[in-house]
Amino acid sequence: MPPQPPKRRRAPGFEPKVRRGTVRITPDIAARLRAGHPYLFREALGGRPLRESAGELLEIVDDAGEFVARGLYDPDGVVAVRVLSRDPNEILDGAAMEARVRAAQALREQLLPREGMTAYRVLHGEGDGLPGVTVDRYADHLVVHLFSPSVESIRDGLYDALEAVWKPRAIYEQKRYKPLAGDAPRGPAQLARGEVAPVELEVEEYGTRFVVDVTAPLGTGLFLDLREGRRSVAERAAGKRVLNLFSYTGAFSVYAAKAGAREIVSVDLAPKAHARARRNLQANGLPETGHELIPGDTFKVLARMAERKRKFDLIVLDPPSFSQAKGRVFSVQKDYRELVEAALSVAASNALIACVSNTMKMSVEELDRAIGEAAGRERRILRVVERRGLPADFPVPAGFADGHYLKFFLCAVI
Ligand code: SAH
Repeated sequence: MPPQPPKRRRAPGFEPKVRRGTVRITPDIAARLRAGHPYLFREALGGRPLRESAGELLEIVDDAGEFVARGLYDPDGVVAVRVLSRDPNEILDGAAMEARVRAAQALREQLLPREGMTAYRVLHGEGDGLPGVTVDRYADHLVVHLFSPSVESIRDGLYDALEAVWKPRAIYEQKRYKPLAGDAPRGPAQLARGEVAPVELEVEEYGTRFVVDVTAPLGTGLFLDLREGRRSVAERAAGKRVLNLFSYTGAFSVYAAKAGAREIVSVDLAPKAHARARRNLQANGLPETGHELIPGDTFKVLARMAERKRKFDLIVLDPPSFSQAKGRVFSVQKDYRELVEAALSVAASNALIACVSNTMKMSVEELDRAIGEAAGRERRILRVVERRGLPADFPVPAGFADGHYLKFFLCAVI
């Protein structure tokens, strides 16, 4: 027998108020959880059938029986337990929810500007001590994303806390469950608390205005996590010919226009997205002149532009992780290299290319490699001159490197 660490004794008389099952884990997984990782993956349960149902609190103990963490059980997903507390004495009631919501608010007050900022994440799951839930603020409205049925057991307490702390006009809720057997379809956001929101809401991000829809099924029209990327582009856009690929509601284009770009071209498959980009330009009092909005497939548009020898000084590449254009399936992992190659065919000398990937499925190394291979095949040299990631309102616990899912590489072309 290897020497055992001395057993720490629990405070006498201690009994947690809520306690159901207990699950024992191996020393290496215990070490990872103690270092901040918020998930216990299903495989760590070693095929052991648990009888608990979704949302029940499980106590996680190490091989010596010592408390590691307490978390919510999900019988269905890849993540079996999401860690809610590392304090054996914490009672996970409404007051605990409110404490987390207030702490999250204090962090934003410390790190974000007070003025000109009404769209940001007020609670980022793991990083704010509530894994499986995110809450975004859009002016007076809150949009909650639930990533597992297990968090439904804390939902009412959370919404009470959000109402007490943020006093929103409404709370909208979206379920993004990922059961092992495929994705569940996404319905429109449900009104959980408060009054029905107008279809258009105006919000501000560092003083730039956007029109969003908090009731939409897929997204509100502004990806809050990409804010640092937009700021990077804005810092370099003055006087440039800018090409925004996969432009959606034109968030990068609006930042570039505001920064004084000479010419902007936005490309997206969806004409509806361009209509929303126009609304966003208007909301900032920016003219549409000098701004071309092209509906179409990125690869086809790039091929046409290359034939005509059209060149750009600043190109933004922010593809969806997966899309199915007419007759063509695009997947980030498989096709990023080809996308960068196509972009290089319209890159002026000394151009900058911003490469974005927002999926955990593509690592920093994989993105870097795709960019490097594209440069090699095109006989150009791409140097990464800046890397940005999630903004301050998307905190990631130390010990959870996978949590940094958003990658933004600014590359200089030779
Ligand atoms: N860059 C955007 C977000 C992109 S979302 C932002 O900063 O907000 C992905 C967008 O890509 C969607 O609007 C979708 O319509 C578009 N899209 C998907 N496949 C495409 C393709 N093959 N060519 C052009 N646009 C495409």
